[in-house]
Amino acid sequence: MHRIYENNDITVFWDSEKCHHAKECVHGAPQAFDRNKRPWIDVNATSNPRLWRAISKCPSGALTCVYNHDIRVVFSEDENRSIAYDGDREIGECCYDVSAEAWTIIHTGVNPDYRGKDIARRLVYKVVEAAEKRKLKVIPVCSYAARVLT
Ligand code: SF4
Repeated sequence: MHRIYENNDITVFWDSEKCHHAKECVHGAPQAFDRNKRPWIDVNATSNPRLWRAISKCPSGALTCVYNHDIRVVFSEDENRSIAYDGDREIGECCYDVSAEAWTIIHTGVNPDYRGKDIARRLVYKVVEAAEKRKLKVIPVCSYAARVLT
């Protein structure tokens, strides 16, 4: 399972298959990570430095995070894609084809001026999370998406 959690400044990624339940996150920021809640991660429940520190101690790589750099990433089911915006300007997308049982990610791209900000990963996670919530499989034909999901 892949989930993405965002506040104004930080995006947190969680890959449940990598999670060994060592609980470093829970010990580091118990307000933000609570296994008894749904969702179990609340990125607004503690300060960003504390959130960042707790995530950096995750031993498995299940939890990772990036700064948003004022880039907004949204999911658009009508358009079969997620989209990244800098203000009103579209600067990236992750597109997928739809079948009855799966979404096939066919392309992920970000304007080269915005490299190094992990925007592509945010785009892929937006699509994958939406598919998984609909109990659909994701087939990453796009090589970048395939890397993110391994
Ligand atoms: S620290 Fe990482 S491996 Fe441990 S419970 Fe949290 S997410 Fe899972």
